[in-house]
Amino acid sequence: MSSRRSPRLIRFIARLLKVRSEHEGRQLLRATRLVGVFGLLIVAPVALLAYFALASTSDGATSIEADLAPEGRGLVQQILDEEREIFGTFETAVDRRLLRNQSPVNGLDELSPHLIAAYQLQGGTSLVEPFDLPLSEDPAELTPAFERAMQRAIHAEQRGELAEAAERYAEAAQQTTSARLSGEARLHQARLYGVLGVGAYTYADVIGDYGALRDSRGFRIGDVARLNQAELAAGRSPDGALALRELVDMLMGSRWVLFEGGEPTVARRALSKLETIRRTGGSIDPDWLSRTRRSLDRRDAQLYWSGYLFDELAELVDRGVGTEAGTTYRTHPNSPALWAFRRSGQDLIVYAFDRDEILQSLQRSADRLSELKADLVSEIRLQDGSPMGPTVFRRAFDHLPGFEVQVSAADPEGLTEARRRRAATRIAIVLLAIATSVIGVGVTVRYVLNELESARIKTDFAANVSHELRSPITQIRLKGEALQLDLIRDDDDRRAQYDAIVREAERLSRLVDNVLDFAAIERGAKRYTMRPEDPVVLIHSAVETSRANIEGAGMTLELDLPDDLPVVWIDRDAIGQVLINLLSNAVKYGASGKWIGVEARHTGQALELRVRDRGIGIAPEDRNRIFDDFYRSADPRVRRCKGTGIGLTIVRYIVEAHGGRITAEPTPGGGTTFTVHLPLTARDGGGATSHG
Ligand code: ADP
Repeated sequence: MSSRRSPRLIRFIARLLKVRSEHEGRQLLRATRLVGVFGLLIVAPVALLAYFALASTSDGATSIEADLAPEGRGLVQQILDEEREIFGTFETAVDRRLLRNQSPVNGLDELSPHLIAAYQLQGGTSLVEPFDLPLSEDPAELTPAFERAMQRAIHAEQRGELAEAAERYAEAAQQTTSARLSGEARLHQARLYGVLGVGAYTYADVIGDYGALRDSRGFRIGDVARLNQAELAAGRSPDGALALRELVDMLMGSRWVLFEGGEPTVARRALSKLETIRRTGGSIDPDWLSRTRRSLDRRDAQLYWSGYLFDELAELVDRGVGTEAGTTYRTHPNSPALWAFRRSGQDLIVYAFDRDEILQSLQRSADRLSELKADLVSEIRLQDGSPMGPTVFRRAFDHLPGFEVQVSAADPEGLTEARRRRAATRIAIVLLAIATSVIGVGVTVRYVLNELESARIKTDFAANVSHELRSPITQIRLKGEALQLDLIRDDDDRRAQYDAIVREAERLSRLVDNVLDFAAIERGAKRYTMRPEDPVVLIHSAVETSRANIEGAGMTLELDLPDDLPVVWIDRDAIGQVLINLLSNAVKYGASGKWIGVEARHTGQALELRVRDRGIGIAPEDRNRIFDDFYRSADPRVRRCKGTGIGLTIVRYIVEAHGGRITAEPTPGGGTTFTVHLPLTARDGGGATSHG
């Protein structure tokens, strides 16, 4: 190969691979290019892919959550939609009320089923609707004279001295400067007068004098007086029920006072009385009864919650919550309320929702939705930052500050397991791909090396054939010229010259035969004609052909042919060539043993032909390869002999075409024994034809 043009690396590789000729160099260059292209186009991309695939196995962990995320997102979205619906409806209803100039703090049911209290704060601070604030009343001082009179009154009433008791109550009323205490005493007086039928001081007088005052239990004295009066009337005549109903209507129509439960209690008492009357046959409108009972309950609950939450509201207002435009939502973990602040002109309107009820209702919806998606669970919870498991998706509520809806995998262990399995599968696939690529590289390299080897073998073959041709031709020409020029006078010498010419011509024709046969075999054009033959005749003929060669090498030939050899179906010329090739090899590689043995044996259905020598023998690793095309052992003792590496190839082909087989074994004591096993009857096929 031209060393000038090839880079140093290639030269190095060439030396490593023992490249000898220009042709081999070109082969090597081509192979190197092939390896380069292979590395660039296959190995590099595969390595890159493997790298990315391995890197992506760590993403496998998150990708299952990512798989569930769309479902989780959908679920969360539905719950958020429901939450928006609750508050959207509420805000629209409030807007409508304000637009129509209707009270935004009464009839809370119609605004939202979750409302528990509402306040209208004038100027953002002072409560104007729906309840009044209690007036600060004078502290009622109990004087000893008042208490004494009251004690006497009570004792007299217990004794049944009603007139005496009424007088004592009247006395007590005069013994105090507190209008409230005096009103309470007067109420008792009026009650006893009512029983006694004395008209001197009646409930009507109490209502007139003390009606708006509250007694120590928070009842308006007027309300109690009216209740007592109406109950009395109801006991007397059926028309008395009317007064009770009027009382209820009056109480329901009046403004109630925060922290004062008197009005609803009196109304409730009157309603119960009316219900009893109705049950005992009184004519009371049942619709009115139930309607009134319902709105009483609602308003009472609203009064209760409005009072309960009032301090919290005051604190929020102090902090300036609700000054922003639109509706502001606030909540505090310790409070049962969700607050909504809304400006309306100068006023601040504040609503309190039952927060836990809203959360529970959202949780119920979430449960219903996650029941449909078996692999997810959802939870409405405080946004405290700690996820309850591997979270698939979470979102904060718009109107419930501090709360969020979170969707997680229903079965976190299963998820982890699935995750692990997925990662393992990926790694296995990647490793398999890498292994396959590595094997692919190995196979390719081997293939390239084999190609190189076969290129070398073919080069050797061409060189060997030309070399083998040259020496007999030279011999024949030299000896022929010597005879032609009449340079040899001695008859014996001349005879020897002729013999040598014939021998060299035979060698030449053997070589040409072999090359032509090999070519025919390669083309698949070789045909054999099977006839019954006497093996002894055949062996003698082959030995005769080789005799000059054997004797020329100074070797002795030992024939061992039994008399009872059977006739075999063979192609005489082909089997002859087998023997000649084996004998020729025995001469070449067995010359040092000075001995060749040829023997034939009849065993069962086969004829065995053996050619033995005591030469250099065959290394065990070569024993299987010597029959391959062009194969020549690397042993220097073999290399010293001329050869083309096709002799045994032809031998094996011919033997197999006869349905037989050939083996090479060591001869005991050194050398090689080739054994040809031939079936007695020729077999069709393998390119063989038989006649006769
Ligand atoms: P060639 O003899 O032209 O090299 P063959 O096909 O006849 O080719 O033989 C192949 C190889 O087998 C030889 O190169 C040699 O290594 C080995 N071989 C054949 N016959 C013998 C033998 N009798 N003793 C030792 N080696 C042998």
